[in-house]
Amino acid sequence: MITILARAYTPVRKGIRPDDLGYVFGNNRINFANRNVAQKFAKNWVLKGLHCKVPHENAAVVKDNKVLFFTRGTTYGVEVPTDDVWNLGQNYSNMTVFHGHTDSYGAKASPLSYGDLYIFNQNKLYSKLIAYNKEGEASIFIKLSKFKKLNMDKFFRVRQDMETALLQNPSPEQKEVINEFHAWDKARGHLEDYEFYSRKTDLFYNEMRTAYGRKKMHDFYKEELPWHRLKYVTNFSNAK
Ligand SMILES: [Zn+2]
Repeated sequence: MITILARAYTPVRKGIRPDDLGYVFGNNRINFANRNVAQKFAKNWVLKGLHCKVPHENAAVVKDNKVLFFTRGTTYGVEVPTDDVWNLGQNYSNMTVFHGHTDSYGAKASPLSYGDLYIFNQNKLYSKLIAYNKEGEASIFIKLSKFKKLNMDKFFRVRQDMETALLQNPSPEQKEVINEFHAWDKARGHLEDYEFYSRKTDLFYNEMRTAYGRKKMHDFYKEELPWHRLKYVTNFSNAK
């Protein structure tokens, strides 16, 4: 039954030989013969979700030769355990999260998102985070040595820099909202005056969904994340 479960979830079986498979625990943890096969399984599981009739995000968490967790998400997201949940068991670290990004909003899959960065920063047990698009291209965050979790102030600043980078060439309507926001900001507007803030946030998210915005995100990650001891690598075709 072990191999059957593993096979059932690996429709793209090229390169996985039955001999490579280890055994499945009762809690769905799978031990493979080595790290490569475990990673291949995770990638296949993610791609399977992206190639479904209703494409959705699947996720898997891999440590060494083990797939410790895998789950199915929706078109727009998928949940993985936080540090607290892992710590209920034993002490894990250096885990890699694999997940998929669908071609949502009528455009090619977006790179790792601001939300992904947030989860990655918050949970120290994850050292690598990968998003695949349906072509199997990868967008990857890696924690470098001496990485220190960004506190909320710093993290918010990263987000502001990202907004600035994305909205570098604003349209006249975008410009209007940005100017309003800056005036509000300068007047030390409070977050309770939510309207400007949420309008700017909408602007930011809408921009991320455009082809231009996606390219900008790749560029932003590549240039800015090393300052925070994070590395970004990608072979997404929309990063070029
Ligand atoms: Zn994601």
